[in-house]
Amino acid sequence: MPAALNFEIDISSENQFITDFPNNISLFIKREDQLHPEVSGNKFRKIKYNLQEALRQRKETILTFGGAYSNHITATAAVGKISGIKTIGVIRGEELGEDLPKTLEGNPSLKFAYSCGMQLHFISRQQYREKTTDAFQQKLRDKFGDFYMLPEGGTNELAVKGCKEILGPGDEEFDYICCAVGTGGTISGIIKASGKDQRILGFPALKGDFLSEEIRKYTYKNNWELILNYHFGGYAKVNSELINFINKFKKKYQIPLDPIYTGKLVFGIFDQIKKGEFPAGSKILAIHTGGLQGIAGVSKALSKKNLPLIN
Ligand SMILES: *Cc1c(COP(=O)(O)O)cnc(C)c1O
Repeated sequence: MPAALNFEIDISSENQFITDFPNNISLFIKREDQLHPEVSGNKFRKIKYNLQEALRQRKETILTFGGAYSNHITATAAVGKISGIKTIGVIRGEELGEDLPKTLEGNPSLKFAYSCGMQLHFISRQQYREKTTDAFQQKLRDKFGDFYMLPEGGTNELAVKGCKEILGPGDEEFDYICCAVGTGGTISGIIKASGKDQRILGFPALKGDFLSEEIRKYTYKNNWELILNYHFGGYAKVNSELINFINKFKKKYQIPLDPIYTGKLVFGIFDQIKKGEFPAGSKILAIHTGGLQGIAGVSKALSKKNLPLIN
């Protein structure tokens, strides 16, 4: 019988002071990246209650979806290894399945997931778009039997419940709480846990205007806003300005940022401060949602382009 292990305990992460800016503005960062060595940051929060629910329903398998470098895929795989529950990752990109050893060699994220015992199932982009249809879900059940399904990115009600626990006692003192946004699950939990005088700023890591609607599915509160100018061209798109920022930030503060989410977030916060978007005296808390496992994969991709590498 799989055990929930350390997913049962309430854990919290430290707020680390980063720096003061002119106008008495100060920035802190919540080190959710240090929650767990393999299931880092918000993915730990999102999976916690889902794992409990899967065990309660006596499911033996968790099935989920993701792209080839997905933090959610690696986190789910690690949870499978830790708890003993079987995991299946349905991965976008049929071609990746043609030569699995070669794919794993070139992709540290999938290699890690595979080494945790996750069964990888590669599907075409066309099928991937249809992954939530009844017909495709039935196909998956025919192939794999019964499973507990986590959606792509891991966002559902239980994930949002877990993300409420990102904020803890002491965080009331912040005027602004800033976090990266992918599917909107993490920010929804933070909004739900926030005080009415706090403002929550989301920095989407991708283009698209569907995110506000997603967030409104989970919360009716209005003390939040999305800052749309820092996606750097779209999901997993980077430029040398972003990479240079990430490298300088790490050198100066000894805190690694990932290029897909947290790098864009912290770049955006610094830029918004510089542009005078925060009132004098603001106390700002940035959430380090983790994602550091993804750096290796992106670095491999960068080395093929003419971009600086992440140190
Ligand atoms: C997945 C992820 C996010 C986005 O979280 P959502 O709940 O999908 O909005 C942010 N940061 C990191 C590091 C992530 O891995």
